[in-house]
Amino acid sequence: MNQSLLDASKEYLVRYGGDVFPALFTSASGTIVRDSDGREYLDFTSGQMCATIGHNHPAIVQAVNRAGKKAFHFFSGMIPEVVVELAQTLAREWLPGEIKRSVFVNTGSEATEVALRMAKMYTGGYEILALGGSWHGITAGASSVSMASDRKGYGVPIPGVFIIPEPNSYRPYISGASEEEAALANLELALKMFDMQSTGRGAAIIVEPVISAGGVLVPPKSFMHALRRAANDRGMLLIFDEAQTAFGRIGARTGSEYFDVVPDIMTMSKTLGGGLPLAAVSTTAEIEDDLFAKKFAFYTSHVSDPLMAEVGLAVLDVIRKQDLVARAIEMGGYLRSRLDDLGQRYEVIGDIRGLGLLLGVELVTDRASRTPAHHLGAMTSQKCFENGLSMNIRRRPERGSVWRIAPPLTVSRGEIDQAVDILEKALRSSLDEIAASRAS
Ligand code: PMP
Repeated sequence: MNQSLLDASKEYLVRYGGDVFPALFTSASGTIVRDSDGREYLDFTSGQMCATIGHNHPAIVQAVNRAGKKAFHFFSGMIPEVVVELAQTLAREWLPGEIKRSVFVNTGSEATEVALRMAKMYTGGYEILALGGSWHGITAGASSVSMASDRKGYGVPIPGVFIIPEPNSYRPYISGASEEEAALANLELALKMFDMQSTGRGAAIIVEPVISAGGVLVPPKSFMHALRRAANDRGMLLIFDEAQTAFGRIGARTGSEYFDVVPDIMTMSKTLGGGLPLAAVSTTAEIEDDLFAKKFAFYTSHVSDPLMAEVGLAVLDVIRKQDLVARAIEMGGYLRSRLDDLGQRYEVIGDIRGLGLLLGVELVTDRASRTPAHHLGAMTSQKCFENGLSMNIRRRPERGSVWRIAPPLTVSRGEIDQAVDILEKALRSSLDEIAASRAS
């Protein structure tokens, strides 16, 4: 343990929130991250859901070196060749329907800001519909349309934001005869409320294809189609935030492909940079032409940086060459079968859900009451970490206690076996401890 640096971390760093581990970290490769003591952990969150091709993939290292020989950065008005190559690759191989023009920024939050500015300028409106449990980023506009957490204490959010209750088949707000009916009933009510409150100046509906921070919720396909219609009916744009879902993670090229719904604007970030800060916002030629005519601006220091475009191209190349989209289905299926097996043996596993290699496991005190088992979840995550597995838990009293499990798409069967074994041991030991403390 590097005690002096650990002490310095307490003295000199702002505590920006989130789960901070008790160690400092030094290196990462593939599915493994290492701390200052050289201890290795299986990284089943792919860093911050970014490292889909594994940490420090040689192709990314080469891309950074290539940019080092050519250019990391230019004046923002100088478009680098490699940025055009990336835009072309996205349009030809990844983007759905008529979506083909892209702008490249750095983070998911920034991408959300771009999308909101585009939608407002294109429609002339300002009202935004967002889903309960959503997370679109931390900057002003993005946090205003994010409902999962962290809204309190930061002043006035942007005006004109309305909520659609998230479709949660395990904990529906309004139950229906089926998961689909429940989701559509929620939507219908939300739209009625919105229409009542609207000033008639709608701009966009923004949605994550899989509501990740809100508990890895996968909406029914008909819900996403209904959102498309709701946007069309009101002259609003549909924005898909594909920060986590694009480029293979869910076993499809994009969420748009999986749901068979083409949005008007797509944002992509985490999984495009593979661990380096790259985000893209893409839209149709028709929308972009209109925005250009209206003098659309999103001019930042690092828009169109060649370094990140080299990295993005390398990430997409690895995903294509190694067919990681198919691998997400295969390995996701295997991980899911191992989790389903746990689900059959442990009453506290209430629900297992997700797509491809983006999975959620919801913990409950018992299946009848579905009471979220926060303490058990936190305890088990802690024990997993002590035994070499990092997983993420979302703790929201109203949304349950959900492990988010999202290893790199390059994860091996052996690593999955190792991780699930650690998870089971940690779960059993936590349950034993809780039972012992009740008995005493
Ligand atoms: N959208 C989604 C769906 C996300 O999960 C996140 C990050 N958790 C963001 C946007 C914001 O991205 P960033 O943290 O890179 O700003």
